[in-house]
Amino acid sequence: MEELILQAENVSYAYEEEAAPALRDVSLGIRAGEMTAVLGHNGSGKSTLAKLLNGLYAPTAGKVTVCGMDTALDEYTWQIRQAAGLVFQNPDNQLVASIVRDDVAFGLENTGVPSEKMPAIIEKALRAVGMLEFIDRAPHTLSGGQKQRIAIAGILAMRPRALILDEATAMLDPKGRQEVFSVVERLNREKGITVVWITHFMEEAARCRRVIVMDQGKCVMDGTPREVFSQAEKLRSLRLDVPPMVALGDLLRARGLNISRDAMDVESMAGEVLKCQ
Ligand code: ADP
Ligand code: MG
Repeated sequence: MEELILQAENVSYAYEEEAAPALRDVSLGIRAGEMTAVLGHNGSGKSTLAKLLNGLYAPTAGKVTVCGMDTALDEYTWQIRQAAGLVFQNPDNQLVASIVRDDVAFGLENTGVPSEKMPAIIEKALRAVGMLEFIDRAPHTLSGGQKQRIAIAGILAMRPRALILDEATAMLDPKGRQEVFSVVERLNREKGITVVWITHFMEEAARCRRVIVMDQGKCVMDGTPREVFSQAEKLRSLRLDVPPMVALGDLLRARGLNISRDAMDVESMAGEVLKCQ
């Protein structure tokens, strides 16, 4: 059986007793090494799910486990936070120190790593996100994409099994968005870190292995990008689009061109179109 890194079983979550629950009976398993996108209209429950999946919130009903540890049990709090790191949307709210090096060290200091081992761990984490040369810089002098990569390095230093990123590129310019997505994609591919990538960019979702769609606190779609994005009508009813290249592929196929349904980003679409010449 494949190992489940993150698991939600019949999970509900309500912010207030009287209010409608933000999550309703959600069950899902995230397998080791998977890179999963989570899509959904505003208010569908994505951020709430993110905070439950790393134990920041405990479920109102049901059970969440991180690497088999029940997030409702206090005894696992630190191990869970270390195993599943959460990156938020706003790069300015995540950096706490006045120097990059200290920022990456911040989480580590709570893990009991001997201080003489810390410099090497910090350097390795910064190298993994392509930010080693910025080690002595002040975070406020960095771009949004660079700040998000520092936030990721701070988590990496703790050797997590999973990274949960809650619209980590939403406030970035296109260059920063590409930088951060590529770094995360590489950490997944080369280090086998399990990734939950919450986004409203369809093109990013198309590059993940699995796509989950949320609506009104429930998971309403779950499949490969090809399976999910072939259901354009259903996505529209959930107030979501298909990735632009999926829409283009549909148009070209309707005109008789033999375009693969797996071509969902610009590069693979260009390849398909060139084959048609
Ligand atoms: P998403 O991230 O998909 O936009 P959220 O998880 O933030 O969705 O929100 C899901 C629902 O929970 C929404 O109805 C939202 O208004 C509500 N909600 C989110 N955060 C809070 C909070 N801190 N207090 C009360 N209600 C909240
Ligand atoms: Mg959100």
